Amino acid sequence: MTGGKRINLLNIEPAEAEVALREFAVSEGEAAYRGAQVARHLWASPAPEFAAMSDLPAGFRNQLAEHFDLPRLELTAEQASSDGTRKFLFRMADGQAIETVAIPEGKRVTLCVSSQAGCALRCAFCATGAMGFARNLETFEIAGQVRELALLDPPIRPTNVVFMGMGEPLMNWPAVSRTLTILNSPKGFQIGARHITLSTVGWLPGIEALEKRPEQFRLAISIHAPNDALRAELMPVNTKFPLDDVIASAARFSRRVTFEYVMLDGVNDADAHAEALAELARRCGAFVNLIPLHPGGSMGFRPSPAGRIAAFAARLRARRVEVAVRRSRGLDIAAACGQLRTERVRRRLPAGADDDREIHQPA
Ligand code: SF4
Repeated sequence: MTGGKRINLLNIEPAEAEVALREFAVSEGEAAYRGAQVARHLWASPAPEFAAMSDLPAGFRNQLAEHFDLPRLELTAEQASSDGTRKFLFRMADGQAIETVAIPEGKRVTLCVSSQAGCALRCAFCATGAMGFARNLETFEIAGQVRELALLDPPIRPTNVVFMGMGEPLMNWPAVSRTLTILNSPKGFQIGARHITLSTVGWLPGIEALEKRPEQFRLAISIHAPNDALRAELMPVNTKFPLDDVIASAARFSRRVTFEYVMLDGVNDADAHAEALAELARRCGAFVNLIPLHPGGSMGFRPSPAGRIAAFAARLRARRVEVAVRRSRGLDIAAACGQLRTERVRRRLPAGADDDREIHQPA
């Protein structure tokens, strides 16, 4: 901790940060308990900067600021929907922009967080995929989305967090895994593991890594097509991890898995698709979420009509598969993943400028 770079307290697990802060307090002639006091201001009762930690002596706050860093994410745009959904655009220090969506529903507030800037996987219906991949987010940039919303006035305090924003979270596992700890830890945001959902295309090494965590984090797998040929068209990642392997991995997973299935008119919403999907769900005991396509983010696809979605759901239920039809939220703002960023970036950059970056894809 001597000289050189300041330690980013938001990029390490809360327990590790507390140890570093306790040691620092003692080295500065302060009582050891000051370490826990500062640590509370990282996540549980976040402070915007050291200077705002008014329960600490002013001199100690200055010393902290010299040795440690509490980086903020810059909030550059916000949209509010008439249904209460709010969408936030944050800019990172290197100029990358990411989105976070807050969805209130009764007593629940679900935050949808981003785990990568852009995405390498290019699902055919996805605005983020069309942007291409820029980089993985660091822990402080993922957990920081939750922290920034807790710093608003009035604060947004989520009861649930879903990794369904920009990016494939299981391709950024080390940072996502640390973020899970921050979200769930008693020294962090104290959100129950069952209220935290990782949503993946079926990135198998990541599912295995998640399985090794002892907490009951939830797993959702984007299926979107019930056979390899159609799925490979919609989701190119299917050529790397085919359906059979994804379903086998879901069956091995120790907790109940949810299938996400976006309803695309005339593409994946026929009765035969429902029957094939029911077969897959029964193989691994999955719960199925049917997602009406967000009209604005359709990339040339049309949403299935409501009657078709209802008939599809009924066919699944008739085969004893549990199914829910998600309500589309934020329809009057750009709430499908990647849309707000796409709009802003289009205004700032020449067309395509964002798509030409090198793709760093873990094996
Ligand atoms: S749907 Fe998810 S995994 Fe597919 S391109 Fe979009 S962000 Fe990436």
